[in-house]
Order: sequence, then structure tokens, then C-alpha cells
Amino acid sequence: MGLVKTAEEIHALRQAGRMNAKVHEQVSAALQPGVTGVELEQIALRVMKEMGATSSFPEWTDFPSAICVSVNEQVGHGIPSKTPLREGDIVTIDVGLSYGGMHSDAAATYPVGEVDESAQRLMQATKRALYRGIAAARDGARVSDISSAIYLDVKSAGYETVRHAFGHGIGTALHEDPQIANFGPPGRGPGLRAGMVVAIEPVVTAGMRYTRTLDDGWTTVTVDGAFAAHFEHTVLITEAGPEILTRASSDTDPVGDLENCGELALTVRTDKLGPIHVRRMKEADRAAMVDLVHRTMDPILMEAWGRRSQPNELFGDPSAEAWVCALDSGEMVGFVIFVMGASLHVNTLVVSPSCQRTGLGRALMTELEGVARRRQLSAVELWVQENNATAIAFYEKLGFVVVGKPYFRTLHMRKTL
Ligand code: MG
Repeated sequence: MGLVKTAEEIHALRQAGRMNAKVHEQVSAALQPGVTGVELEQIALRVMKEMGATSSFPEWTDFPSAICVSVNEQVGHGIPSKTPLREGDIVTIDVGLSYGGMHSDAAATYPVGEVDESAQRLMQATKRALYRGIAAARDGARVSDISSAIYLDVKSAGYETVRHAFGHGIGTALHEDPQIANFGPPGRGPGLRAGMVVAIEPVVTAGMRYTRTLDDGWTTVTVDGAFAAHFEHTVLITEAGPEILTRASSDTDPVGDLENCGELALTVRTDKLGPIHVRRMKEADRAAMVDLVHRTMDPILMEAWGRRSQPNELFGDPSAEAWVCALDSGEMVGFVIFVMGASLHVNTLVVSPSCQRTGLGRALMTELEGVARRRQLSAVELWVQENNATAIAFYEKLGFVVVGKPYFRTLHMRKTL
């Protein structure tokens, strides 16, 4: 259950993942009206052969073809056919391949020519849900945190997830434990650990979630004929966050960039200073963060506590996450450090005086609230010095209220979600 891979296995999994992305690139490049599933399978087989990889499907699932090609209302396990694809179709290509004793598994739904807006929306929502699921695949999280992140995102887009389609662990076998449902509450199931590799794969329908299997014994279709979409990536969980192993360079993340694991894609536009980019903190950011906190917080702390801020107060919590805000020039103009438990706790939020009244602080807090909601946390909380009137007014405007009495001249503020 939930095997942590060795360094050699991870090396092979990365290779198998890159190869899978390559197959997707080549197959999707050939997608146009008139091409058949069988022709797409031939392309996939050729690309796999050139790289020294083999399809995982016949060996591991008895599936009769090298790839799955599922069209429109076909939910999955479509057998490549000689029927030409038509303009307006959407087609899911699912590729499982084996290389160096390791498997990779990835699927995507692609448009054939121009597709109508409802099909586009369905594809976008499904891909987005995949990235939400990936963002939840973190060291220390539980399996159903992925399920819940996917499900909430799909439901919020007005769609349904197919209940019998599961993500799964992957490695020396195509399908390993744990199973990853695309629905359900967070916080359940086995714990996720750095070094585990999982295939995350929401299957989403535009109509009812019920499916049936065709007479070929493989192809599942929606019972009501509504279109279905399916996106899947093989993901390595690392201490620094999820690493998508099957991602092609042309595969754009609908939520954030890869470094940010899909959870942070924030650029705040300001008239005065141009765009302010928000990204995850790197080790090299520490000095600028300390400098910024001295410049902004020390006067307040001197007045409240009679001492300056301490770097270990910023970086002492290993479970904390930090985002930094920088101008195009690279100059750091703010940061936020926070921890997620039952609620999201903002440890430190600092915005440089030059960026006050630009909307940066509000944008950061809105993004954090979104993170907390997606994780189904109960509240956003923070502590603020009672002499920091600007900050108190700012948080009150955002809906925070003071809880309890001041403690060492510090107020506890909370926004229930
Ligand atoms: Mg799979």
C-alpha cells in the first residue's frame, strides 16, 4: 500500500513519464477531422517503439489496443476504430506505457477541429479539476484530499464525476494502491508521502454521472449521451510539492505554473507599479524577506513589544508555506507566510509601503481564502498587534472579526468560511 519509490525507480518513472508526454504530443498533433482511432494508435505505437517503450495496456489490463481512444459520449476504454473523427468531436487519448520496468499513465481530452463552447467548457473544467487534485497531492496529506479537491472543483463548474473511475498508485505495476476516488470528503484514506507516485484522473460528464458498457465489453458511455472528458497525469509527490511526470511542455497549467503545483497563479495588476507577481518562496528570498519585515514591522513591534522582529519568527515553522510578491524588476514588495491545519493561519503578511493601496494585500488574502475553501478549512485566522490600526482596519474590511481579548498587545482575528 502506497509504496515509496526508490531513487532508481523514480529515475525510471520520470523517463516513462516524459515518454508518455511525447506520445501525447505526437498523437494530438495528428488529430484532425478524418483521422481514425486506428491511425492514432499506429502513431502511438511508432513513438513508443522509437523510444524503446511498450504499451502497458494489453499486458496489464487485457485491453485489446495500445491506447484508448474515447469519442464524445464515450467515457473511457474506447477501442481505436476505423471510423474517421469528425469536426466538433472531442476525443480522449489515454496512454499507459512501460519503460525500464516502470509505468506511466496519462490521458487528455482533445478537440477535433472546432468544437462547440459547451464541449470546450467541459474539457477546461476537467483539466482544471485534475490540477486541483494534483495540488492536493502533498506529503502529509491524505488520499481523499485529492478526491475532495477534484470533486469540489467539478461540482462548482456544474458537472459530475464518474464514480467508477479511479486514480491509482503506479510504479512496477500500472495500477497499484491506493485507489483515488474522484469524489468524497477530504482527510480520509492512506497518508501521502514524499516518494509516492500516483496517477490522478478525474473523469467528468456534462450530464448524469451514470455510465454503461458497450457490447465490446470495454467502451463505457454516458447513459444519457452527454459528452465526457478525462484528464490524467502521473505525479510524484515530493517534499517540495507534486511533480507532474507526464507533462508535455505544451501542456499549459490552467491554474498556475508547474513550480506552483497548480495552486498559485496570481499576478496583481497595478497602475502605479505594473504587474506584481506572486510565487512560492525560494531559499534565496530569505534575506529580502527579513529586510522587508524589518522595514515594515519593526516600528510597530518596538511600540507594542519593545523589540524588533526576529528572522526565526519568520522561518521557524517547517510546515509553513510562503509566497513572495515581486515586481517585474525582481524587487520584492511583499510576502505572506501561512500554515494550514483545521483553519488557515496567516503567520505573517507584509506589504511594502510602496505597494500599499495597490490591491496587493487584498489579492493575497483573497487567494488564501480560496486555498482555505478548496481545502474545506473552517476559517482564516491571524494575529495582529493592537497598535497596528492600518492592518486591523484592512482585515475588518475583508470580514475578519476580533476573537477574545488581546494577548500581549496582540489581537486574534478570524474570518469563518
Ligand atoms: Mg490511469
